[in-house]
Amino acid sequence: MTAPRLELRLDAIGRNARTLVRDLGARGLTVTGVTKAAVGLPVIARTLSAAGIATLGESRVDGVEALRAAGVDGPLAMIRSPQRSQVDRVVAHAQISFLSEVAVAEALSSAARRRGRRHDVVVMVELGDLREGVPADQLIAVTRAVTRLPGVRLQGLGTNLACRSGVIPDARKMRELSDLVGLVEVACDRALPVVSGGNSANLDWALSDAPVGRITELRLGEALLLGRETLHRRALPGLDTEAFTVVAEVIESRHKPSVPWGDTAQTAFGPATAAIDQGTVAQTIVALGEQDVDPWGLTPPIGCTVVGASSDHLVLTGPTTFPIGTELRFAPNYSALLRAMTSPTIPTVEVATPVPVGRG
Ligand SMILES: *Cc1c(COP(=O)(O)O)cnc(C)c1O
Repeated sequence: MTAPRLELRLDAIGRNARTLVRDLGARGLTVTGVTKAAVGLPVIARTLSAAGIATLGESRVDGVEALRAAGVDGPLAMIRSPQRSQVDRVVAHAQISFLSEVAVAEALSSAARRRGRRHDVVVMVELGDLREGVPADQLIAVTRAVTRLPGVRLQGLGTNLACRSGVIPDARKMRELSDLVGLVEVACDRALPVVSGGNSANLDWALSDAPVGRITELRLGEALLLGRETLHRRALPGLDTEAFTVVAEVIESRHKPSVPWGDTAQTAFGPATAAIDQGTVAQTIVALGEQDVDPWGLTPPIGCTVVGASSDHLVLTGPTTFPIGTELRFAPNYSALLRAMTSPTIPTVEVATPVPVGRG
């Protein structure tokens, strides 16, 4: 098989999806399957749909269009606010958009009217993570403005925590969101059927026995793909963390000093990190680099450590040298996965062979 490559086990993703749909379903929550890390890779979308996930979420309109072009026909959500310049493409292919600016809702409304449609809208609320969202004190004004637009239909509220500042989506934050739903329902004189509580960082809360309140759904990406919650990156019980493996080939493997010699300045990617003198080490280079993955997001084979990376060389130290041509296997974190899936230099290859569980 070609190397480097990103091996993908759809069976693991399918099982993760069925498990989360079942466990969250028991709590009264549905799952929006976030496919953005895969920029709409249709096999992942189909796997999630087959596992019982009705709505898929993308953050880029290109991803939405890629899913449609591949024949994926279920409801699609734009979970990042549409760009005003792209609203025509959004209403053509997605059913629902998450947004935080009235100007975007206005543009969506006009675009939907031109097509003789109505586009569903979820207004994001700022609850302290300081990424997207309307501050609570402006929420009623914003939602009222949205309800006056003829081409859009206010379906509910959402929030996103943890991603930017690490703020925990705990029971208190979720209660705050539920309370705001009640206020907006009264102010706008309508029921809000969708309350989107967050992402994979919400799973500790969602799988606890805290009341779900008005929350109806979570938007999950990483938990489905990598089997982890994202506050502490703990593996979730019953989920498979090995759906993806990065495979790369050894192109040099020699004993070398652990400390460089000569005067030093910047490296290919900025300041050099100070090397720790460990005497002579077994140093291995695989044909993989910053252009393919986030090298610092890879867990190398047991006993090996990633010590450096440039665009196209990944340097490891380990207990021994490896024969030239050996394929080494790495577990990607979300950052490494994201770059691997979006880089044209590393193909995604479906594999069926289960590998032993328990790695990482
Ligand atoms: C990326 C994203 C998600 C999915 O996050 P995960 O941590 O991968 O579950 C959910 N909601 C929004 C708004 C996002 O941008």
